[in-house]
Amino acid sequence: MAASDLINLSGLIDDAKCFALVRQHRWPEGACCPACGSGAVIRDSHDDAQPCRQRYRCKACSGRFDDLTGTVLAGHHQPLRAWVLCLYFMGLNLSNRQIALELGLDSSDTQAMTEQLRRGLAAKTPAVELTGEVEIDEVYVVAGHKGQPAAVAKRAGSGAGAGWRARRAAARWRRTSRPSSA
Ligand SMILES: [Zn+2]
Repeated sequence: MAASDLINLSGLIDDAKCFALVRQHRWPEGACCPACGSGAVIRDSHDDAQPCRQRYRCKACSGRFDDLTGTVLAGHHQPLRAWVLCLYFMGLNLSNRQIALELGLDSSDTQAMTEQLRRGLAAKTPAVELTGEVEIDEVYVVAGHKGQPAAVAKRAGSGAGAGWRARRAAARWRRTSRPSSA
């Protein structure tokens, strides 16, 4: 019998506390406008479907936003408590399948949630800053041996070429997947 048959964990979690948790992490100094960054915001009622989701209005740019606007948690049909629990289970190193069982969700839904949460957390990681003396190893890439096609063919066959291609693809991925705001 799965634990989820005995205890519906999601049903025991308090929605109000989940939203309070998000607010506390997102705006430890008080809410500010995600559009213009102003701290001059006023509370402006609650979400119609989720009564614990606070809405705000920015006095500087007249923009409207709520607790989840601009986060990976916005615009999903799963309640916030499912996301909070999902994040908690990820911290316990549970597999997507186990998380799906615990939350009573589809495994493909769970997969999408864990991917989004990982992306969201990675985007928060500050860019690496190099200080002091920085040393870089020299890299020499052999493009080919002019006039020695046999040697080139031998190299490609040995797998060295494939390894280099994989490293080049990985480097390109790192370059292009970096958030543009960083
Ligand atoms: Zn604003």
